[in-house]
Amino acid sequence: MHIEIDQDRCCASGQCVLTAEDVFTQRDEDGVVALVDPVPSSAAAQERAVEAAVLCPAGAISVHLRE
Ligand code: SF4
Repeated sequence: MHIEIDQDRCCASGQCVLTAEDVFTQRDEDGVVALVDPVPSSAAAQERAVEAAVLCPAGAISVHLRE
């Protein structure tokens, strides 16, 4: 699995960080999403990343099941 983000779509809500702080963070200057770990390896981290993608209000997170 790998994760992609669209920083142009992100509205800096922070929901993804609350859901999966081991995968997502926010830029200090404007709160826009950034990736901590674009290829989460543990099942738990992958599950949280998928949940974050579902919850993102801007549709800025894409989850790709193949590497
Ligand atoms: S949940 Fe979506 S809109 Fe909010 S910070 Fe994360 S990527 Fe950006």
